[in-house]
Amino acid sequence: MFEDKNQGRTSLSELGEFKLIEHLTQFFSLKKTTTIKGIGDDAAVLSASDKETVITTDLLVEGVHFDLSYMPLKHLGYKAVMVNLSDVYAMNADAEQITVSIAVSNRFTLEALEELYAGIQLACDTYNVDLIGGDTSSSTKGMLISVTAIGKANKEDIVYRDGAKPTDLIVVSGDLGGAYLGFQVLEREKQVFEVNPNNQPDLQGYTYVIERQLKPEARKDIPRLLKELDVKPTAMMDVSDGLSSELFHIATQSKVGCKIYEEKLPLDPQVISTCEEFNLDSTMVALSGGEDYELLFTISISDYDKIKGNPNLTVIGHITKENQGLQLITRANQEIALKAQGWNAFNK
Ligand code: ADP
Ligand code: MG
Repeated sequence: MFEDKNQGRTSLSELGEFKLIEHLTQFFSLKKTTTIKGIGDDAAVLSASDKETVITTDLLVEGVHFDLSYMPLKHLGYKAVMVNLSDVYAMNADAEQITVSIAVSNRFTLEALEELYAGIQLACDTYNVDLIGGDTSSSTKGMLISVTAIGKANKEDIVYRDGAKPTDLIVVSGDLGGAYLGFQVLEREKQVFEVNPNNQPDLQGYTYVIERQLKPEARKDIPRLLKELDVKPTAMMDVSDGLSSELFHIATQSKVGCKIYEEKLPLDPQVISTCEEFNLDSTMVALSGGEDYELLFTISISDYDKIKGNPNLTVIGHITKENQGLQLITRANQEIALKAQGWNAFNK
């Protein structure tokens, strides 16, 4: 009934809303013992446990948060789940369920939504979470996706943004700035394409930064690693808006200052080479880029030996007293006050 009868351009109006949801979600299976009832009734049912529940939502709007001219729908579905799981892991919790709500204009076909849900399903399978419901609506223009993620953690394991103390070390997972540069490369290729549609995009040499933009991975492994190392962060959050802005959140909520060191910022070699090509300062990109979905956290200095040398983790600085403010120590050993956000953060 929903076969590809028209070169993959089945109009959504050909099926009712119920058939559409049924079709899109038919291959999703329930994996979590805490999911009692998933899609199909008025509401999903989850079993209560002796753990705390964490819950988080993100709304993604076409033209504001994503551009379908270079974002394949499968990647969009995957990324929409990742940005939410990342927030759950940033609480030091494990994600268990998601809901997905979409609004789409009539320019989208059934096949397009199949792609979106293929990405959502890949994320659910890879990260072991259940899709338990959502809502479906038409929109007058473009696409909106809202994902809600639900997670669980022992009360004593949850990590907030307000627990950082002077002398704590500031640690970041993975590396920074890649997603922003992937965005720059994709924007450039889009403009080239708009001028000459016969021009094939040349994305060789940018695979890592493009993947950081189009297929980010939430750091599910980090809460697990920290547990294995017997380290409980004093504060934690994910890097969605950019390191600088996230440091401000931790500093404000914890009522502390910080010092971070330019030479310690973790950068992939491709981030450095792409910065050179685009004439961008790699430190600026690492501080203000955003969308890296790495975890930023603080630990007691007495835990340093437990994380020392771990290839997933980099110590980039330490927490200071509130009146010291937020400082970047440059390679030339100068102190510069960090700005919360913005590309021209240091330009007066
Ligand atoms: P209601 O009229 O109560 O809102 P719906 O027809 O919207 O019910 O939804 C029927 C079932 O399908 C519910 O379990 C709902 O959570 C689920 N659902 C609806 N839209 C989506 C979607 N886009 N993705 C996943 N599940 C959905
Ligand atoms: Mg509904």
